[in-house]
Amino acid sequence: MSDNSKDIVEDEKENLHLKNKMDALTKKINDLESENKLLSEKVKTISTEDAEKSNMEEKINDLKQKIIDLEIEKKIRLEKSEDLDAKQGYVSFLEKEISNMENAMENLHKSIKNLETEKKIISRSFEKSIIQEKVDLGTESQVRRACPKCGNKIHSQIREIVDKTYLISTYPKLYGKKFQCGMCGEEWRK
Ligand SMILES: [Zn+2]
Repeated sequence: MSDNSKDIVEDEKENLHLKNKMDALTKKINDLESENKLLSEKVKTISTEDAEKSNMEEKINDLKQKIIDLEIEKKIRLEKSEDLDAKQGYVSFLEKEISNMENAMENLHKSIKNLETEKKIISRSFEKSIIQEKVDLGTESQVRRACPKCGNKIHSQIREIVDKTYLISTYPKLYGKKFQCGMCGEEWRK
């Protein structure tokens, strides 16, 4: 082999070596580029995700605020409805009390009526007994058990009779009594 051809072979070898190295480098560059592309996409995704995340966080905060607002509103409404419930409860309590009082008053009226009836009955029977006593006293009077005309004192000959001209009480209807002499027919009152 000549020096020249030896050089050519060396050159070709070197050339091939360089070409291989270039290919390898090109491949590495391509790899790096695609990796870079991937990374930049990832970065993009991440930043998009970040943006979305912060957007979502904002929305979440908004929702949280709305929930707080709703809870406050709910509490106010609940307090109002509790207030209303309490008022309605008080009103129905009062209505019940009034109806109880009305019943009690009705019962009182009935009791009063009964008492008045009882009182009437008692006072009538009292009146009657007083009148009876009066009549009895009159008839029992021994002094009058003697005929003022003929002086007859025989008890069996002196009758006690009702004097329709002497009304003691209209209700109950009570008449006084008079005596009648069985001997001379004289009539006299106490
Ligand atoms: Zn007489």
